[in-house]
Amino acid sequence: MRRCFRILWLLIFAISLADSYSRPGQSAEVNLPVIRPTEFPKVGKFEVLCGDFHMHTVNSDGRLTTRERVEECARMGYHIIAITDHRTTRGYTIAKHVSEQLGLIVLRGIETGIKGAEHINAIGFSGQYEPTDSHSWAEVPNADTVYYRDELREITDCGGFVIYNHLHVGFREPVEWGVREGIIQGIEVKNDVVGEGWNTIAWNGRHCYPDAFDYALKHNLTIFANTDAHVQRNANPAVTLVFTEARTPEAVMEALRARRTVAWFDGVLWGRKEILTDLIRACVNVSLSKGKEGKTFLNIENQSPVAFTAVIDGVSAEPVEIPAYQAIPIPTNTDGNTVRIRWTNIWINPTENLEITHPLAKSR
Ligand SMILES: [Zn+2]
Ligand SMILES: [Zn+2]
Repeated sequence: MRRCFRILWLLIFAISLADSYSRPGQSAEVNLPVIRPTEFPKVGKFEVLCGDFHMHTVNSDGRLTTRERVEECARMGYHIIAITDHRTTRGYTIAKHVSEQLGLIVLRGIETGIKGAEHINAIGFSGQYEPTDSHSWAEVPNADTVYYRDELREITDCGGFVIYNHLHVGFREPVEWGVREGIIQGIEVKNDVVGEGWNTIAWNGRHCYPDAFDYALKHNLTIFANTDAHVQRNANPAVTLVFTEARTPEAVMEALRARRTVAWFDGVLWGRKEILTDLIRACVNVSLSKGKEGKTFLNIENQSPVAFTAVIDGVSAEPVEIPAYQAIPIPTNTDGNTVRIRWTNIWINPTENLEITHPLAKSR
């Protein structure tokens, strides 16, 4: 009898342990060392989570196994991922299992598209979606392979969100149609893997898609910066910041559909003015203080993992760097109640920086 109780207790203990390892959306139960910090302060009611919605494993042409890929994501500080192998969702079950152990959110994903042309990622669809003729969709109906419009509608019917990837073939009718129909809702403005090729444009020393940024603003699409990792990621991989109401797959999908993202890559942020303004106001404190000998300092405190550069009206005409999670004092003669700052690594379109008038808290 006593032995029975002991076994029963052991069983209950084992179940509770297993449960704590499998609950989604909670802080990591299994901690892998994060090699780059990615924690942001809250922005109003939103958490700012780091996502990557484009990556490959050995299930297609990637080099890492699904487990290795998910563990790498955890080390890189991502909170949300979609594994998007070509033609298959085979890795999803393992990815989900490993992600839950690590406290990551994982969405179902696949990379597919039109024969010899556009690549798209579908993410967040249900298990009901069965991919047809991946990367071989026809541009006309009644061809040998599925008509792209039928397949895109099928993805949407299964709850999927469609992203136009690395626009190496530019903007052709299939994408224009998908956008008009509200089926293609997102676009990559940065893809780490394409390097200098694939129709990228050299923009302020970076290779990316400023024309996709313009297009996203014009057509109200969700902005993505993805890694498209095939081998191991570089030290500073692209990130899509997602402003979510909760750490759940449903909340992530809601945020993507509501266009609440910012692209973070190569030291810059690209996004809509409103959301970037909210982000900077939440991440940065600006105050005036008196130092020794009555000198006045403008203190800028950065509570985010992004290093910012700023040109400050009446204080510094040259960009000043405010490193991640640091505060810097800048000598000044200013004594006003506000200060106008142009954030020179934050862009509200490909040619315009974010500018904000910050209230000046006075401290001693
Ligand atoms: Zn691709
Ligand atoms: Zn890819």
